[in-house]
Amino acid sequence: MCVDVLTFGCRLNAFESEVIAREAERAGLSDTVVINSCAVTNEAVAQARQSIRRLKRERPDLRIVVTGCAAQTQPEMFAEMAEVDRVVGNDDKMRGEAWRAARAAFDAGFGIGTSEKIAVADIMAVKEMAPHLLDGFKAGLPRVFVQVQNGCDHRCTFCIIPYGRGNSRSVPMGAVVDQVRALAERGHAEIVLTGVDLTSYGADLPGTPKLGQLTKQILRHVPELRRLRISSIDSIEVDRDLLDVIANDERLMPHLHLSLQSGDDMILKRMKRRHSRKDAIEFCAQVRRLRPDITLGADIIAGFPTETEEMFSRSEDLVDECDLTFLHVFPYSKRPGTPAARMPQVAGGAIKNRAKRLRAAGEAALQRRLAAETGTTRQVLIESATQGRTEHFLPVAISGERPGAVMALAINGHDGARLTV
Ligand code: SF4
Repeated sequence: MCVDVLTFGCRLNAFESEVIAREAERAGLSDTVVINSCAVTNEAVAQARQSIRRLKRERPDLRIVVTGCAAQTQPEMFAEMAEVDRVVGNDDKMRGEAWRAARAAFDAGFGIGTSEKIAVADIMAVKEMAPHLLDGFKAGLPRVFVQVQNGCDHRCTFCIIPYGRGNSRSVPMGAVVDQVRALAERGHAEIVLTGVDLTSYGADLPGTPKLGQLTKQILRHVPELRRLRISSIDSIEVDRDLLDVIANDERLMPHLHLSLQSGDDMILKRMKRRHSRKDAIEFCAQVRRLRPDITLGADIIAGFPTETEEMFSRSEDLVDECDLTFLHVFPYSKRPGTPAARMPQVAGGAIKNRAKRLRAAGEAALQRRLAAETGTTRQVLIESATQGRTEHFLPVAISGERPGAVMALAINGHDGARLTV
């Protein structure tokens, strides 16, 4: 066995795991599992620890390397685990030299002492992104992710990500266009642009190009690309060019996921978010004027410290006010080292209850949209033998179509979870 990569967390990690697998194998590592961890919630960190113990129990001869955001923010915690052979930093993981050093350490029998295991550089010192031109994800994958930005300059009070990924940095536009072209030529039908704070794209590059400009460059210079999708964005930072592409380019998928987090202005202030409730509602109305059939999704936290029932009700009714279709609900998770962890906490039971109510509101919104699709014809990307997704990211039950194909299908109803044809 060469190297297996176990990916936790976000699309960024999914992209990075492809690079890790390639670099670790090039370094000649074998019988090794790399845990590409996530630190967004305590639950995510616990899952990585459980996987490490299980893997070592099943295969005592395995080498286990932990990397990712949890390794970057809590390296000692992982290094103290007897099952762990090495802890690699979140930027280091993208560099061949880190895997060559791991190989050399393993060959020399190093990594016995806790401190010897740790190879984690200061993430805040990282100024540039390690360029990676992936010539392909696993062949035939209909949808693949391209990382165009990493890190974040904001410091939302609940968020551990900047401490795991460092400050914002962007991949130069030319390198992104080359990456997208390489993947489109390889037959990947849909490319998803991903980053930590995507809308801060380019702030660190000469000429400070914005996400909208990047999107235009990709669509202009890669005519063979069939579908471009944008992952999570901060609505208050959306630029004019991006609004122009949303309005006028069919190849940009009519689906946006927004980092809203709360519907209450006092809570948004305590989160150190840059937008108000009014801004969020107005942004959703604006993009709906530009692209009336657009679907909108959002991340919302339930039970942020000091949140009262009344404040929470403003998050609940934001689902309708913004006409959201996809809701990612995050029960507040106290992350050590964040300012919110020092604020008066909401009781665990209330957090659970509010998350449940938000999910119910999200489910009802999805049902409304699924019902409204009946009688339309949608461009469906075939993801597998049994499922596809429309341009609005709505799942479709299909059978026997070729994965990777994009087909115009007439929607005749839904089964409560997926559209039917
Ligand atoms: S914008 Fe806020 S929530 Fe998003 S990664 Fe940055 S600090 Fe975290």
